[in-house]
Amino acid sequence: MSTRTPIGPGATIGIVGGGQLARMIGLAAANYGLKVHVFSPDADSPAFDVAAARTLAAYDDADALAAFADAVDVVTYEFENVPRETAEILEAHAILRPNATALSTTQDRLVEKEFVNRLGIATAPFRAVDTAADLSAALDALGRPAVLKTRRFGYDGKGQRMIRASETIDPAAVMAELGDAPCILEGFVPFAREVSVVAARGVDGAFAAFDLCENEHRDHILAVTRVPAPGLSDATAREAARIAERIGAALDYVGVFAVELFLVREADGSERPVVNEIAPRVHNSGHWTIEGALTSQFAQHVRAVCGWPLGDASRTGGMAVEMENLIGAEADAWPALLSEPGAHLHLYGKGESRPGRKMGHVTRLVPRG
Ligand code: AMP
Repeated sequence: MSTRTPIGPGATIGIVGGGQLARMIGLAAANYGLKVHVFSPDADSPAFDVAAARTLAAYDDADALAAFADAVDVVTYEFENVPRETAEILEAHAILRPNATALSTTQDRLVEKEFVNRLGIATAPFRAVDTAADLSAALDALGRPAVLKTRRFGYDGKGQRMIRASETIDPAAVMAELGDAPCILEGFVPFAREVSVVAARGVDGAFAAFDLCENEHRDHILAVTRVPAPGLSDATAREAARIAERIGAALDYVGVFAVELFLVREADGSERPVVNEIAPRVHNSGHWTIEGALTSQFAQHVRAVCGWPLGDASRTGGMAVEMENLIGAEADAWPALLSEPGAHLHLYGKGESRPGRKMGHVTRLVPRG
């Protein structure tokens, strides 16, 4: 393990995963005179383009992981499905930030919801479902509609299935649709809208949340993030930030993370936050911070994992911000976006555009009228 402390300019951050999140962490690190070493099993990784060093190896290649961790000053990751054995090898050879507990808690929907509920924070009601009989019992307990989700490896709506009120289902067939994997059934949350808190926690326990943002999904993929969330009350914004602060402290978290929340409208018009999921990493709904906040989520993550003071997470004065993902062929509009005054274009360097693939994003700042 490296003994160079404190971590300063010239040091190297190891990043597990080579997608656009790692790429944007790498760009932010370069801004502070740091280097990144990217570990990815995919030769076409977008983050390889901005990395001073690369390891092309599988996530279960123990020798490659050990050599990678030995070569860097701190290791971080850009996705939550880092296998437990991988995290253990990394922790034995380097400082891992966020820690392995953050991974094991958030990569399993059942463990994650139990953890959140233990803090006294609301989630959808849920039941563990391992068999068709469990599914029938859980549907009786929670009612319909309900959402069946695999406990692990779900993203962008994959690994989940809505069970509607009117539908007659064969529980065994539904379990087979999800590969007979261990699942949870969640009661349907009748939310008014979906929001997220992107926040950071430093080595010293300092906490800084970016402004709450509202997220619009299309085909289960984030399409647009808006900040500030229109019509959001200060009380709801404060409560959401407080939820993130308590989750971060309970995980002894270091780095940037996101808490995705449903807002449920109450009879008195107030909005009640319900936690949907925690992402132990920089998050798509935080991309707006590159231009829209005084410190971007990527710079903030770099600061946190290096043990540096957190930056100012305030929104750039007086501006409302909209971030639009460029999915698949939408990125072909890049020439028009380059010509649009005030549009900040980000392309991830992915060679092949496929339907549903995140190719880039564009951020627009507008003065609030
Ligand atoms: P997830 O993968 O858990 O983020 O779920 C993907 C999307 O499905 C969410 O953004 C919601 O729009 C919807 N969804 C997931 N779980 C529930 C739930 N328990 N109640 C209502 N909608 C849900």
